[in-house]
Amino acid sequence: MRHITVLGATGSIGVQTLEVIEKMEGVRAEGLSTYSKIELLEQQARKFRPKKVCVVSEPHAKELKIKLADTEVKVLSGSEGLVELAEGEKSDTVITGIVGIAGLVPTLAAVRAGKRIGLANKETLVTAGDIVMSEAKRCGAQIIPVDSEHSAIFQSLAARVNPKEYDREVSEIILTASGGPFFGHARESLLGVTKEQALKHPNWSMGAKITIDSATLMNKGLEVLEAGHLFSMPLSRVKVLVHRQSIVHSMVRFCDNAVIAQLGAPDMKLPIQYAITYPARMEMTGNELDFLSCGPLTFEEADTETFRCLSLAYQAGNIGGTMPTVLNGANEEAVSLFLNDKIEFLEIAEVVEQAMDAHKTIASPSARDILEADLWAREYVRGALHKIK
Ligand code: NAD
Ligand code: MG
Repeated sequence: MRHITVLGATGSIGVQTLEVIEKMEGVRAEGLSTYSKIELLEQQARKFRPKKVCVVSEPHAKELKIKLADTEVKVLSGSEGLVELAEGEKSDTVITGIVGIAGLVPTLAAVRAGKRIGLANKETLVTAGDIVMSEAKRCGAQIIPVDSEHSAIFQSLAARVNPKEYDREVSEIILTASGGPFFGHARESLLGVTKEQALKHPNWSMGAKITIDSATLMNKGLEVLEAGHLFSMPLSRVKVLVHRQSIVHSMVRFCDNAVIAQLGAPDMKLPIQYAITYPARMEMTGNELDFLSCGPLTFEEADTETFRCLSLAYQAGNIGGTMPTVLNGANEEAVSLFLNDKIEFLEIAEVVEQAMDAHKTIASPSARDILEADLWAREYVRGALHKIK
């Protein structure tokens, strides 16, 4: 029997993870969490009967405790509850579907407890990649990517012949990007775009934050940094190509110029399932790729003049230390301000750049330094808002 904990069970990744688990034999949902969506968490708890659930928001946790009083399910609360859930003795695998740096502390707890991590929460590696990867090594935790591009690279690297020659044999990683809803637009035409327009992703249905990140190309920037940590690659060897169809999920170029890619219909359930079953594969239906109807596959360069966030992410990654945390924290705050109609679409990149310019980097930060840099960046962006308005 496999026991799985789903952090962020009520989000896009979390709901799809439970759909995957439901179809698997010998797999049980052991723990589930939400920030405050207790109606959905109650339904999930009644259906999957986990040992424990966690509601981060205390008042919502109290409400759910009453609703679930007739069951055996234990309701935890707050960030301590989330850590307890992530460390859960009985679970062997933790799928990290929390959005934002809020996923860092529970993910690190699961890593230190030696779990297999199905990593969806990319902000964990963007902000604390050095710490998380070295702790995973020390504690014997396996990190299997769920992000579709990174799962594709992980699968493509399986064809590598000699692990000792990894650095020489793997020349570069090529991340594909859909380009988002505004691909091909000039900067001027993005003045005044609405959140409704930005939330219309051409190929994927995801949470609001990552959908806005896809529209600004910050998502690809975060993925470049995520790939650098996951696959020990200098950022000069992590490239981005716009591929509008989201069929080629990403590729690896080897030193003899062989390129190995993973292709498939855009469906997160495959990378989620693979993170659970790896190294085995399990049958899946409904996601077959039909080569005769998927149309031509195209590849183009990303426009980093218009979509500044992608180049800001490379800059932050090359500076290192706390700078990627500041990029991420400023972006999280800016996206939330944009979704609340407080700033314009193009101002997201502007405030992120301002925060990076103002930040004094700590070169080898501790986890505490990282959390402080995150708070500093958010505060900075809220301050910049007063100057804009
Ligand atoms: P979502 O907004 O749909 O869901 C987020 C989940 O996190 C919810 O369950 C919510 O209750 C919980 N949450 C929110 N704030 C929290 C907090 N402060 N503390 C604890 N829990 C909190 O997001 P999503 O689209 O499922 O994305 C989740 C993560 O997976 C993100 O890091 C995203 O970048 C990554 N990811 C998502 C997709 C996708 O298809 N959705 C693909 C690749 C990577
Ligand atoms: Mg992705």
